[in-house]
This record gives sequence, C-alpha cells and structure tokens, in this order.
Amino acid sequence: LDGSYDPDNIFAKILRGELPCVKIYEDDVVLSFMDIFPQAPGHVLVVPKEAARNALELSDDALAAAMLRVKRIGNAVKAALAPDGIMIAQLNGAPAGQTVFHVHFHIIPRSDGAQLAM
Ligand code: 5GP
Repeated sequence: LDGSYDPDNIFAKILRGELPCVKIYEDDVVLSFMDIFPQAPGHVLVVPKEAARNALELSDDALAAAMLRVKRIGNAVKAALAPDGIMIAQLNGAPAGQTVFHVHFHIIPRSDGAQLAM
C-alpha cells in the first residue's frame, strides 16, 4: 500500500478527458462510467475525483461523499436492471487485486446462478 500517486494512471487520464469512457454520472465529487471488462452486465465504476491511490488514502470528506454517490448509483442500477443482488467492491493494493491505482468503487449486478469472479 506504500508508494506515490501516479498522475498518469488510466483513471486519472479518463478524469482529465484524455481517454474516453461510457459515462453514467458526473458531479464535482465523482465520475462514474462503465467498466471496460465487465464482470457482469451493468458493471459500473465510481471514481472519486480527488487524487488518491486507494480508499485508505482518500480524505474523509471525499470518501463520505463518494459513498453517497455509490449508494445513489447503486440504486439507479437496481432500478434499471433489477438484478437479484448488487456487489459493491473496493480493492486496496495489488495483493488485494487492485489493478488501477486511482481509488474506485465497483458496482456489480449479480443474478442467481451467475458465477462469481470477485
Ligand atoms: P481494480 O482491480 O483495480 O479494482 O479494478 C480496475 C477495473 O478497471 C477493472 O474492472 C477493469 O476492467 C477496469 N478498467 C481497466 N482499464 C479500464 C479502462 O481503460 N476503461 C474502463 N472503463 N475500465 C477500465
């Protein structure tokens, strides 16, 4: 979990508009877009705009505000897709499975009988 923030990580580039994304929602706190390799249909990412590698390094205010967006976007996914369940996941550090080192939350619809990849 130690190291420094790389401003050229993929999500930083998406936040700056240097790379495209399929945008779901945006405000002053977060940008939300579709995961490019979805684990299930409707797999959405919620990315705080504050520069931090992981949730443990995000400011209290940004974390609290981001979680409210995760809840709202999760409810929007629920309303749109009516999945049987919704996983909210957030990985900190490569050993935990993190691959993009700008803090983000996964919202992953789950349906009965579907195989779990995470
Ligand atoms: P992590 O394992 O770090 O929690 O998750 C990173 C997520 O970002 C993965 O689910 C991966 O599919 C997604 N991802 C990686 N590169 C891109 C990209 O360029 N665009 C989008 N939309 N998602 C990406």
